[in-house]
Amino acid sequence: MPPTVNMGIPGASRTALGSVAGDVTGKRVLLAEPRGYCAGVDRAVETVERALEKHGAPIYVRHEIVHNRYVVDTLAKAGAIFVEQTDEVPEGAIVVFSAHGVAPTVHEEAAARHLRTIDATCPLVTKVHNEAKRFARDDYDILLVGHEGHEEVVGTAGEAPDHVQVVDNPDAVDKVTVRDPDKVIWLSQTTLSVDETMETVRRLREKFPTLQDPPSDDICYATQNRQVAVKAMAPECELVIVVGSKNSSNSVRLVEVALGAGASAAHLVDYADDIDPAWFDGVTTVGVTSGASVPEILVRGVLDRLAEHGYDVVQPVTTANETLVFALPREIRPARQ
Ligand code: SF4
Repeated sequence: MPPTVNMGIPGASRTALGSVAGDVTGKRVLLAEPRGYCAGVDRAVETVERALEKHGAPIYVRHEIVHNRYVVDTLAKAGAIFVEQTDEVPEGAIVVFSAHGVAPTVHEEAAARHLRTIDATCPLVTKVHNEAKRFARDDYDILLVGHEGHEEVVGTAGEAPDHVQVVDNPDAVDKVTVRDPDKVIWLSQTTLSVDETMETVRRLREKFPTLQDPPSDDICYATQNRQVAVKAMAPECELVIVVGSKNSSNSVRLVEVALGAGASAAHLVDYADDIDPAWFDGVTTVGVTSGASVPEILVRGVLDRLAEHGYDVVQPVTTANETLVFALPREIRPARQ
């Protein structure tokens, strides 16, 4: 591969030739960096793998551990059983809670069934839960910007159901009512589009001028970094391929961000086989990225398929270097020597 073009954070600078990745004529691939696994997904997947090693199959997992078909299918083959509700888990069995987090009622149900729980909730989701608890304690109206019905939003709202309202998109602001307009805070799902969220917040603030901001960013570093990298490469791409599953919020957002940043077309694929060769008509530059729940092997498959179609020059477009690693959940952490 050619050397990485590192352009700093948060936006990508351009070369003297005006290109994010140098001057190449002919078919090429721009490969976004960072892409793929974030620290929370890495931790959640390793949690299930270690639980299987330590306790043997089956290990029950409430909801998809992360939103990726390949990951879920691979863990299922290794002995994980994915369930939708806690009452599907036999009494006394081990259950892992997914990276998206759960409401306190789910912990209560698990305790009532004497389940042994391992909580793989991403620490950055837990941070938002703690914010919801804290502001509910102080009797704020909490406006949670996020997608209605998404597991993470259900879990966060469940921390303070009497105080939280979900605001799904900018237009939903019109319906929001609060008890005291001077005691309102917004929080958000971790995997949203930064730009759309800011538009929602702008409209909320028009309605509630003293609206408080979260103590720190709720949209997580991984979501933001992947969007910045896509924005840097998209203006040069006639086609952007995002590797990710349809139920992966951050992957779907990458498609939207690519289109918003100037890509002529953008598609979400689980696997290389999902690529339609007709997409390549008249295309010189293809951008490739992947959502935070996507293992790199799937991106490699897409790059191989692109090479078969003549896109065999791959130029990384790097906008950040990620080094964050989370410790495994306590229940599964190896004992100290
Ligand atoms: S996308 Fe962000 S919040 Fe979600 S698991 Fe990854 S690091 Fe955690």
